[in-house]
Amino acid sequence: MDTKTAKSSKIAIVGAGFVGTTFAYSLLIHGLASQIVIIDVNKDRAEGEAMDLNHGVPFAQPIKIWSGEYSDCEGADVIVIAVDKGQRIEQSRLELAEGNFDIMKQIIPSVTKYNKEGILLIVTNPLDVMTYAALKLSGFPKSRVFGSGTILDTARLRYLLGEYLRVDPRNVHAYIIGEHGDSEVPIWSLANVAGIRLKDYCPMFKIPYDPEHLNDLFLQVRNAGVEIIRLKGRTNYAVALGLTKIVESILRDENAVVTVSTFLEDYLSVRDICLSVPVILNRSGIKEIIKLPLDEQETADFQKSAAIVKRVASSLKI
Ligand code: NAD
Repeated sequence: MDTKTAKSSKIAIVGAGFVGTTFAYSLLIHGLASQIVIIDVNKDRAEGEAMDLNHGVPFAQPIKIWSGEYSDCEGADVIVIAVDKGQRIEQSRLELAEGNFDIMKQIIPSVTKYNKEGILLIVTNPLDVMTYAALKLSGFPKSRVFGSGTILDTARLRYLLGEYLRVDPRNVHAYIIGEHGDSEVPIWSLANVAGIRLKDYCPMFKIPYDPEHLNDLFLQVRNAGVEIIRLKGRTNYAVALGLTKIVESILRDENAVVTVSTFLEDYLSVRDICLSVPVILNRSGIKEIIKLPLDEQETADFQKSAAIVKRVASSLKI
């Protein structure tokens, strides 16, 4: 699909909170869609956000933005779910899951009543469990329901590695897979710059190759969400740009490689769960899942991550 067609696309955003509206702002700036509808149980909030965004249109690109109803999801190419019950960080993973699962049970059927052809992109946490719930509740094919997953964690790792290696983070190829959460797994065995593994790349530029330091960088990534929330109460900018990248890959039919949470039929013996792995994304959604040749420890960590997510999904009886 060319840019012109991407520009004539419609995006529905359910959840006019920090993430949903920062994403709408990013879409506006990137000129990726011609229509954005924002839906929220708090209609005033959705209306105020739509008004504010519309007043920026003269500085950006022609676009129609409005606060709407579920019926406005009709014809949307992508429906982004960024709702939240308004929970506290100290709540357990299961408590968070229960609260947001209740909301998903209301909103997914409301969306699919009016839209059976679009792509459902989930952002609500706990991400992997909510993605799995959306898949089951929608009855959509697995290629058209996925979550932003570790696209954010992968970006955080690339940013920190870029700083450490003194290269543009876009040229750092390193992935975080598994749960979007505490059990996520960095794939050091495949991390590279210019196709050169880090253990060979670092000495070429007199940068210490120290697995302990690399692990420290990973711990910063793993704790980033909690740390940002401690400092400013929310995370919104990076995730919104990650969502923009995902939507761009879809609308422009890019066949882009991104790490998103997707349904796994059999990935290193992990089955019947949504978790992040690299996928190829295009206009039809997830075209292919890329099976990474992980080392033994990474495989075990990935399987452990799957077991943790599965436990939560099972307790919710999804
Ligand atoms: P927020 O509290 O600012 O916004 C949530 C919005 O959902 C509110 O406007 C609320 O009115 C709305 N809402 C609640 N129930 C609803 C319902 N039944 N129908 C329609 N709207 C409803 O939250 P936020 O900071 O924007 O975060 C949204 C979600 O995204 C959270 O679950 C958060 O944890 C998650 N998140 C995920 C990532 C990621 O990488 N996946 C990153 C950041 C945040």
